Amino acid sequence: MTERTSGARQLAAAWADLVATARRTAAEGLVVGTSGNVSVRVGELVLITPSGVPYHRLGPDDTVAVDLEGRQVVGTLKPTSELPLHLAAYRATPAAAVVHTHALHATAVSTLVPELPPVHYMAADLGGPVRVAPYALFGTPELAEGMLRALRGRTACLLQNHGAVSYGDTLDQAYDRTAQLEWMCRLWLTAHAVPGHTPSVLSPVELAAAGEQLRGYGQGR
Ligand SMILES: [Zn+2]
Repeated sequence: MTERTSGARQLAAAWADLVATARRTAAEGLVVGTSGNVSVRVGELVLITPSGVPYHRLGPDDTVAVDLEGRQVVGTLKPTSELPLHLAAYRATPAAAVVHTHALHATAVSTLVPELPPVHYMAADLGGPVRVAPYALFGTPELAEGMLRALRGRTACLLQNHGAVSYGDTLDQAYDRTAQLEWMCRLWLTAHAVPGHTPSVLSPVELAAAGEQLRGYGQGR
């Protein structure tokens, strides 16, 4: 197999994974319509969902790839307007895949607090209490900069009055973190809504211990 065909196969496989992940965000209720976006890094290229195309309509011929400066390398469909946010994540973090959604509970929490109180130990899997980046217009460098500050030492953050972003080593990991974050936001909102009570939160020591435990989890124990 020539280098060229193996590269093309790698891109095609990554695009199929990306489309499957994007469809999952819609099927599992994390986005409505096309109100989210998904990307994955393949070497020096970033494959990313196009702007305004419903995920069920995306096929193998709709591949969109840009370089790390955002120049389109593959495809004719326009990349999502949140491209700057995805590129910032690839430039400044170890992200290999990024999932952005307007998930309901995550977005609700983003309007209430500057940080999601650590009501569950799964916060440790995201690096600690999840911060909220200050509001900025979608698609702008300001939003991307605020996101990077909120992501420091974390693999996910909320965007005020907008949604959530998470990243991972794979599309599956980025997706799972998005789903976990949405669940934790729902958990906090549920507990917080009980009149006359304030939810208890975990201490930094408790979260650090959970983080240690999670690092050993899933390896045959
Ligand atoms: Zn958005």
